[in-house]
Amino acid sequence: MRTPVIAGNWKMYKTVDQALDFLNTLRGRSEVNGVEQVLCASFVSLPTLIQATSGTEISIGAQNLHWEEEGAFTGEVSPTMLNDIDVSYVIIGHSERRTYFAETDEAVNKKTKSALGHDLIPIVCIGETLEEKEADRTQETVRDQVAQALDGLTSEEATRVILAYEPVWAIGTGKSATADDADDVIRFIRKAVSDQLDPQVAREMRILYGGSVKPGNIDSFLERQDIDGALVGGASLDPDSFAQLVNAAA
Ligand code: PGA
Repeated sequence: MRTPVIAGNWKMYKTVDQALDFLNTLRGRSEVNGVEQVLCASFVSLPTLIQATSGTEISIGAQNLHWEEEGAFTGEVSPTMLNDIDVSYVIIGHSERRTYFAETDEAVNKKTKSALGHDLIPIVCIGETLEEKEADRTQETVRDQVAQALDGLTSEEATRVILAYEPVWAIGTGKSATADDADDVIRFIRKAVSDQLDPQVAREMRILYGGSVKPGNIDSFLERQDIDGALVGGASLDPDSFAQLVNAAA
């Protein structure tokens, strides 16, 4: 009953021309039903990509937003601006933003609320560092991150959130979590959501795995009942491999 999601996180890659080349190559290869396909691109490419994907199965997302609608926040982009160009999704709290741009759980919560208030689907990232994993603090870490990200949300709002469990040590390293481990943590997250909100939200919320997902290992994650898709960095940059990921989820 939960529609799978394959979301590409292009990070700070691809100029507008390169983004359009990607779409031209992808055309026709991922035209499948039953999967939400999302490409999260640089702010600069968003208007062009939204135009180019209009009427297709592909949705476009941003990789960040500010929670205020407008104001003196140099360098930031507001939810109103994303609405204005018809952006559908937004990644929030990616570990690179938490690490390099000091994004806190409090900011993640404000951004999540703001996105939901503006009809954007937030893809909220959580996950433990290697240090936390080695200290056996994975569950505690993700439970705290989820609790803070969803704090103050109604059940209706929380149901629209997509969570992405991305162990920090697996991102961009080529070393993914095993499907068993990812499944264990995602089941734990679902239980935490159930305790924090209600069982219905936990049943309906999409929870993705992210961290070195590629065509060669996507099936192992997708065959788990609790894993609803993937947030993919490196392997989403190539149209062939993105198409293979989408088709695996169909
Ligand atoms: P990766 O990145 O697939 O390159 O590991 C995942 C992510 O950063 O979302």
